[in-house]
Amino acid sequence: MRVAIAGAGLAGLACGKYLVDAGHQPVIYESRDVLGGLVAAWQDEEGDWYETGLHAFFGAYPNMLQLLAELGISDRLQWKQHTLIFNQPEKPGVLSRFDVPDIPTPFNIIVAILRNNDMLTWEQKFRFAIGLTPAMLRGQQYVEAMDKYTLLEWLRRQGIDERVNSDIFVAASKALTFLDPDQVSATIPLTALNRFLQERYGSKIAFLDGSPTERLCQPIVDYITERGGEVHLLSPLKEYELNPDHTVAAMVIRGLNGRPDYRVQADAYVSALPVDPLKVLLPAAWRSLPFFRKLEGLEGVPVINIHLWFDRKLSDVDHLLFSRSPVLSVYADMSNTCKAYSDPDRSMLELVLAPAKDWIDRSEAEILEVTMAELRKLFPQHLTGENAAQLRKYKIVKTPRSVYQATPGRQACRPTQTTPIANFFLAGSYTLQRYLGSMEGAVLSGKLAAQAVAAHFSQRAQVPVAVH
Ligand SMILES: Cc1cc2nc3c(=O)[nH]c(=O)nc-3n(C[C@H](O)[C@H](O)[C@H](O)COP(=O)(O)OP(=O)(O)OC[C@H]3O[C@@H](n4cnc5c(N)ncnc54)[C@H](O)[C@@H]3O)c2cc1C
Repeated sequence: MRVAIAGAGLAGLACGKYLVDAGHQPVIYESRDVLGGLVAAWQDEEGDWYETGLHAFFGAYPNMLQLLAELGISDRLQWKQHTLIFNQPEKPGVLSRFDVPDIPTPFNIIVAILRNNDMLTWEQKFRFAIGLTPAMLRGQQYVEAMDKYTLLEWLRRQGIDERVNSDIFVAASKALTFLDPDQVSATIPLTALNRFLQERYGSKIAFLDGSPTERLCQPIVDYITERGGEVHLLSPLKEYELNPDHTVAAMVIRGLNGRPDYRVQADAYVSALPVDPLKVLLPAAWRSLPFFRKLEGLEGVPVINIHLWFDRKLSDVDHLLFSRSPVLSVYADMSNTCKAYSDPDRSMLELVLAPAKDWIDRSEAEILEVTMAELRKLFPQHLTGENAAQLRKYKIVKTPRSVYQATPGRQACRPTQTTPIANFFLAGSYTLQRYLGSMEGAVLSGKLAAQAVAAHFSQRAQVPVAVH
């Protein structure tokens, strides 16, 4: 069966991959000239890569790891030491580590927390552990029920010290959702924590060995096209045409560069678009359905990804770092962490600026200035004084609407992959699946959408043919 998919982010590509596995023919239409959506990357005139986002993979990403294994590219993940590393604003240049020992879960995480004495006192650790007990004992159902609180409200209700909030949860909340704890739903960090507490290597971090576009998305496209599927760039979905019963009759693809629009017909249609453009493209006849009305409660959150190339090494840390800066979130020295970006003599810092609401409309000069001011606090030994390291060049990628904004109450707005329209399905990390707005969530949503499409076809095949 022919399935038309709009969007070649990880969700659309994973959906295509699992549809060819199920014996169907996916045809993917992507609006831009680059694969990957939020993982898209580009090369500058000197051949250096810059990306939409700094991307960390986790051990607790079973669907992503399975996908890489099925593509035969598991070795492209560069696994780092099992540790979480935080800057200490009050001790510039000094890092604090939560080293996770190789023992069964949850003891590995508990030992990691107990062993860290830089960031938490014994009393704070004790209160922290007591506060987390319901999440550990009552599992995901409890975690989902906490979607009515912000993380800050939940921490206060649990009697967890404000210092734990400022030290750990601000960093975690910004890293997971690009929001601060007074905005993010408590469900989000608790979901991540639950995964980490249940899976021995769940919190282990890996980086891809090169750009996600080349090293992750292209192999999925090759897999799909070698098996009869198609992927078309520069092919934006313009509108859905409907049948009288409101099922999809065709997708209209906008003709770019003076070419005419054209219609695409298929046996089923998948939107793997982000939620914001999907809301704009929803046909009028669907908008009043409660299923689609819920989407009004979802929108993308702004985030900014910054790349700084320096004239010397600032760090030898081969890992993700939590900056604990009020402006910045996580960062990494990609000259150490990523094989294709490696440089033995000069650092390339890739940093996420979040929350970005107040920065997304500012000029690049302002964003660069605030970032450098924060970095001078983190690396005073390299970035201040007469012999300070020099910035060779920079690239800033702004994404005004990225993953869905995970404020309280959003879980109820996230749609399933099956919709009330018989031949129309949804994929995307904002759709309902257990892995948040992440790469894992995108891959899982694509797989679930492919399964829903395949089930739809097999049900249709089972309908008995009327004999007169
Ligand atoms: C700065 C940043 C850092 C991140 N860090 C991490 C991380 O460390 N770990 C992690 O797991 N996740 C991370 N994420 C989240 C992760 O990138 C996303 O959850 C995931 O890539 C979303 O995939 P998707 O396919 O659901 O959506 P998208 O990637 O948004 O894909 C949607 C696609 O649809 C296309 N499209 C839009 N309109 C049309 C149209 N009209 N017609 C056709 N195509 C259209 C878009 O161009 C895009 O290619 C990060 C994201 C950002 C922005």
